[in-house]
Amino acid sequence: MNFILAEEQLMYVETVQRFVKDKILPQVLNLEATHRFPQDLISEAWELGLLNLCIPEDVKGFEIDIISTALIVRELSYGDTGISTSAMCNDLANAVIAQNGSDEQKQAFLGPFVEKPLIASFCLTEPGAGSDNAAMTSFIKKGTNGKYLLNGEKCFITNASYASQFTVFCKVGKPGGVMIACVIIPSESIMKAEIRPQAAGGREIILQEGGMIITGKPEDKLGQRLSNTATVKFEDVVIDDSRIIGNRRLGFKYAMDVLDYARPMVAAIGVGLARRALDITLEYTKERKQFGERICDLPVVRDTLVAMWKKVELADLALMKAACKVQEKAEDRSLYASLAKNTAADAAIFCATEGLHLHGGYGFMTEYEISKLARDAHIIDIYEGVREVQDMIIGRELV
Ligand SMILES: Cc1cc2nc3c(=O)[nH]c(=O)nc-3n(C[C@H](O)[C@H](O)[C@H](O)COP(=O)(O)OP(=O)(O)OC[C@H]3O[C@@H](n4cnc5c(N)ncnc54)[C@H](O)[C@@H]3O)c2cc1C
Repeated sequence: MNFILAEEQLMYVETVQRFVKDKILPQVLNLEATHRFPQDLISEAWELGLLNLCIPEDVKGFEIDIISTALIVRELSYGDTGISTSAMCNDLANAVIAQNGSDEQKQAFLGPFVEKPLIASFCLTEPGAGSDNAAMTSFIKKGTNGKYLLNGEKCFITNASYASQFTVFCKVGKPGGVMIACVIIPSESIMKAEIRPQAAGGREIILQEGGMIITGKPEDKLGQRLSNTATVKFEDVVIDDSRIIGNRRLGFKYAMDVLDYARPMVAAIGVGLARRALDITLEYTKERKQFGERICDLPVVRDTLVAMWKKVELADLALMKAACKVQEKAEDRSLYASLAKNTAADAAIFCATEGLHLHGGYGFMTEYEISKLARDAHIIDIYEGVREVQDMIIGRELV
């Protein structure tokens, strides 16, 4: 493990830092207040090469290594974790194809993302199957014409209202079946579909080859208001064999493998947010004076700042170790991916909460960024597997 960044990695870090400083931070509070998906910023990020990092080189993608990907996500998250969540979920949906698709599938389903700033969704969670993903009931079943039909409902799906491609996990044969497949509803199909916008911001997507996708009203969220989250319903969506990724019995394994890749990315989101909370709190406490001195010089405040700094640094170490383990496909990578996710979520919540406290009453005002970070931080402990699920994975690996 090497802490000296390669020239290329330094270049990525500097590019993202510039983007965050010039394009995100100056407008983040205004954008957040409107709770609107920042499509233009996502397109700019795509132009800079900060999206779709996992697409293989033979599809003309960047195929960026996991450590560099973690650095990019961490720096983007310093600007806004809603934007980085949206970018990361694009990669999550596409990583399953990059890791398990045939050459034809990679060309057909990943190629368009290299050409245009398209958005993808990773559809795993269902109303009755959150932490217990295997309890999902969405399913594909063969119709009379020999093609599969997909039916079911997913919830909390990032990017759903804007997605031009859906990566969907579903049972095979019946809702209560044991086999899980991973299927793609490709951008080619969504582009040709008739899209009927709904009053509340949902969409009805009527597919030419048969079936319909309905995305729900965008969720009104406590935090990460610059990411989009909605339900997705599939009604008799035709899935031919070319849209089933890899082996149709191995979808659950593909989902778990991709979560090993995704958890360090969520850790990177946590580290980015925690560092931002520390930096703006340092700035504030160096300016604010009470009892005749800067509040950062009051002993208890100094202790809190030290505790925040330690959390950020330890989370960053855990992130880098997990990224190295996943990069080298180490046997114990799940252990470190879960450790990094929990350590970074804890750092994010701690730094945002304590940072808000050190801002006093001002921290409770929405015009202070720390109040936004305090709202944003909570989800890091929940998505891609709640804290207890990470501990369950760590416990299982240990014994
Ligand atoms: C903003 C946002 C974006 C998301 N994006 C996506 C996405 O793009 N794609 C996608 O598929 N999903 C997505 N999700 C879903 C997310 O991954 C789930 O919300 C998460 O996995 C938890 O599932 P749940 O909400 O059903 O909580 P539940 O599983 O019902 O858990 C509730 C609580 O029960 C406890 N608990 C659960 N399991 C255990 C256990 N084994 N041991 C001990 N305690 C336990 C924990 O305290 C937990 O917090 C997103 C969610 C949000 C809020």
